[in-house]
Amino acid sequence: MKNIEEIKSKFKNRDRIIRILSENQHFRAAMIRNTNTALTAQDRHKLSEIPANFLARAMMGSALIANFLKGEERAILHITGNGLLSQVYAESSQIGETRGYVEFNQNAPKVAQIKDMDNVLGIGLLKVTRILYDQAKQNSGIIELIKSDIASDLEYYFNKSEQIPTAILMEVETDSEGSISKSNGFIIQAMPGCKHEELKEVFEKIENHLQLGNFFDDTLSIEENLKNVLPFDFTISSNLPIDFYCRCSKDNFTKAMITLDIKEIEEMREQNQNELICKYCNEHYYLDEADFTKIIEIIKSQKN
Ligand SMILES: [Zn+2]
Repeated sequence: MKNIEEIKSKFKNRDRIIRILSENQHFRAAMIRNTNTALTAQDRHKLSEIPANFLARAMMGSALIANFLKGEERAILHITGNGLLSQVYAESSQIGETRGYVEFNQNAPKVAQIKDMDNVLGIGLLKVTRILYDQAKQNSGIIELIKSDIASDLEYYFNKSEQIPTAILMEVETDSEGSISKSNGFIIQAMPGCKHEELKEVFEKIENHLQLGNFFDDTLSIEENLKNVLPFDFTISSNLPIDFYCRCSKDNFTKAMITLDIKEIEEMREQNQNELICKYCNEHYYLDEADFTKIIEIIKSQKN
């Protein structure tokens, strides 16, 4: 029989996002632990410390936004910059699936030469997109990066672009080998009906608490951490596991190839270009002779 304590501790350390509503309904907040998700992303994309840290933050951001949506609605956080990284992309569904990737600037300084974290993204833009059920069009907004650390930029986005008083905190740490060892985040937003004085008092109390040091204690559960940070009573409105998960499949890739020209497919086959790579999760798929034949047959049948 497995050690019960071991199972319990695994459960406690499971990546999770918990959303709460203050008792007086003037604030909503969410806290996330996505350490394993971030580590999986780092491992899949074979990233060193700094890019992995920024991808962890972006995935946290998209998960925090998606958490306020419904069902399988999704949120995308897409950051472009002129620093070490040209792109950081993260996408999360409300049900806890998260995927993402980074791209490097061709002329960027080497990771080892990055001294100032501001230069990881440099000057750039942050775009928030929500993919909602009841709207045919995507709903998105864009701002210029103000601090290029993702947390402050997303906070600024909510305050300015969506005019929702918001505070966001992200904390990502790596171990001596450069692997993600801790990745936690927190968001609090004022709801309609919240008076300015109350808002000021609550945000100040949280800020004072956070200035004392670690905002997230790994020996405690997320609920306990929320209790420590929040200066009011609350009820939990959702509690969901978070995972790195991509819905790509070889089948979906081959379906997309059916839109190509037969000539292109034949060229790929001749040149033995049989590798398909998902940019979101770095999964590699390989086409065999039978796959090529099948794709060509389907394209031919569509033409008739
Ligand atoms: Zn994928």
